[in-house]
Amino acid sequence: MPRQFCVGGNWKMNGDKAQITGIMDTLKGATLDPNTEVVLGCPAIFLEFTRSNLPARFGVAAQNSYKVAKGAFTGEISPAMIRDVGCDWVILGHSERRAIFGESDQLVAEKVIHALQSGLKVIACIGETLEEREAGKTEEVVFRQSKALADAIGADWSNVVVAYEPVWAIGTGKTATPQQAQDVHAALRKWFAANVSQAVADAVRIQYGGSVTAANCKELGACPDIDGFLVGGASLKPEFIDIINARM
Ligand code: PEP
Repeated sequence: MPRQFCVGGNWKMNGDKAQITGIMDTLKGATLDPNTEVVLGCPAIFLEFTRSNLPARFGVAAQNSYKVAKGAFTGEISPAMIRDVGCDWVILGHSERRAIFGESDQLVAEKVIHALQSGLKVIACIGETLEEREAGKTEEVVFRQSKALADAIGADWSNVVVAYEPVWAIGTGKTATPQQAQDVHAALRKWFAANVSQAVADAVRIQYGGSVTAANCKELGACPDIDGFLVGGASLKPEFIDIINARM
């Protein structure tokens, strides 16, 4: 079965109701590739607003969730709360969460399994820093991050999308070349075949993220193991439509 192309927008801590309304109007008015799944990662406080103003054709994702359903965890939100406001997705393990908020592989894995058990679909982010790439450790890092996820998730990855996001490419304007991205995606698929199952390796969608734009999305999207994108900066701009339509 071919893997459905999936493009996520990660608005990060950007936007207000007026700006989000503009983005939603652009999306609703555009001709979009019907074969591409689109998921919008919006700030927690705007989840309900975004969900209630977009057709079901668009998924809406939180950008984080905690590892338990409720309790004394001031400032956190749970997958149950995300579902309660009508959303189906969460982005977990983003490099900004890992680097700025100190999230470990273990914590990310615990969040992922709790989100899945709560009925959310998960975009799980992995990726190496520049230092790690330059030290030749790209595969070691992404395999370590994938192993933490696999140990928690087990055999069923049907509600998981993996986002390979080299940290050096996020928000820097430095995109991985299609070859660099394809090489890591192919290595990850081999890793899944060896460490989870051939079925998961064949079926799991692996997005590329890191300075994707209208100008580079077609070449990246043509790579056989790239099944979509996770897009930060450009997801706030009209060019996001071109990225959604990269394969059209
Ligand atoms: C991201 O935030 O996941 C991302 C890839 O950002 P950008 O597209 O701006 O590099």
